[in-house]
Amino acid sequence: MTIFLNAYRKAQSPEQTHFCPGCGHGSILKFVDEAVSSLSCEDRTIWVSPVGCGGLTDAYLSVSHVLSAHGRASAVATAVKRIHPEAVVIASQGDGDLASIGIAEAIHAAARGENITVIFINNANFGMTGGQMAPTSLEGQHTPTSPEGRMLSEHGAPLKMCELLNTLDGPAYIARVAIGDIRQLNEAHKAIRKAIENQIQDRGYSFVEVLSPCPSNWHCSPQAAREQIQTMCKTFPTGTIRDIDRSAWVKNRHKVRDYTAELTQDAFNEIARSVEVCDKPAIRLHQPVNCCCAGFGGQGVLSIGRWLSHLALVSGLNDTWIPSYGPEMRGGVANCFVRISKESLDSPVVSTPSHLVAMNQPSLDSFLPRMQHPGVVLYDCDVAEPGERPEDIRLYPVAASSVAQQSGAPRCANCVMLGALLRTLDCDRDVVIGALRSVLTAQQVQMVAAGLDLPMHP
Ligand code: SF4
Repeated sequence: MTIFLNAYRKAQSPEQTHFCPGCGHGSILKFVDEAVSSLSCEDRTIWVSPVGCGGLTDAYLSVSHVLSAHGRASAVATAVKRIHPEAVVIASQGDGDLASIGIAEAIHAAARGENITVIFINNANFGMTGGQMAPTSLEGQHTPTSPEGRMLSEHGAPLKMCELLNTLDGPAYIARVAIGDIRQLNEAHKAIRKAIENQIQDRGYSFVEVLSPCPSNWHCSPQAAREQIQTMCKTFPTGTIRDIDRSAWVKNRHKVRDYTAELTQDAFNEIARSVEVCDKPAIRLHQPVNCCCAGFGGQGVLSIGRWLSHLALVSGLNDTWIPSYGPEMRGGVANCFVRISKESLDSPVVSTPSHLVAMNQPSLDSFLPRMQHPGVVLYDCDVAEPGERPEDIRLYPVAASSVAQQSGAPRCANCVMLGALLRTLDCDRDVVIGALRSVLTAQQVQMVAAGLDLPMHP
């Protein structure tokens, strides 16, 4: 409870909220505030707010606050709760947020039975963005994106999230309430309090759907909007749908490791200890290397980086390796970045590479202009040719594809490129070959050796 509760502060209690007159959000926040206050958990409550009309609500609640990305409040609340199990974590999500873009996260948080409270504010439209049709819009409801009214044949039926989540084993408490008449307001107040109390008692995942008026997008007066809530109740019947105890799930949940900086450092040290550092360094580093290996998926560019990284580790150096590839794998773009340094490294990101290994034309075209100056570029000259030749960049053509092909190992062009790259660094050939024998096949090692033996002329 360090980061979040240090940020605890009293709400500024503005006299006026940003909600439209007659909006249900204000009542919901008031019920949350009252429940949190009466349960005396303000100092350990973390409010996870959504994107939409319910966002930026931290000014109205005297609790800590995390603003999540659109649709992700259930996932963010999960993370916050697992890191801070003693916190009372309440996710607030609108219907566009939870039932549309964030439905996967919402369902999975419920299926896992996370010990969080989710308040689902259903006003049957995307309120903040102009009232477009939401998954919960009623049949026949006119919105800017359903000007003729929601049609079952065209748009499907409204999503009933309570009933949907009730098919899962995970949730402990599921209820639907409404911001309508006085009786409904009382029920809403009680349900919200119970959903928060459940979490304090470790009873498990609690979900409260609140049917909430949106006079602005329903194009009616606040009074008429409250009356319209009764129409919503016909599609979304109110009441308690489930109330069971899932404390066994909460109790048996694995304790999450405390990812403090010390433990992370311990994990790194453990990895470092598991690597056998060679008697002599494979790579003698004179200045930090920030290398980019790039090509198509399937060419083994990520492996070049992994093997280079391995050589750095066995040389007793610090290094990071991070891959990056497109949504498609084989045939799509793929690249990785390796940083090697005698000093500790703070980030694996390489924005201006000192070294580039380009296995195809698009990679060469893409990364050559981003090079550090001076820099070193190796490219497979069987498939790529630089369009420009910057003066302070040493460009090495490497016939990697043809060397691999002629050696009967066409899939090992990446090994040839690794060998050639090592030639541009200060490396010990024998130590390199010895260190690679534990991670590469005999044929791959042979092709790295072929790369090491290539004449290199910029
Ligand atoms: S647009 Fe609707 S949901 Fe948003 S603040 Fe106004 S009334 Fe409330």
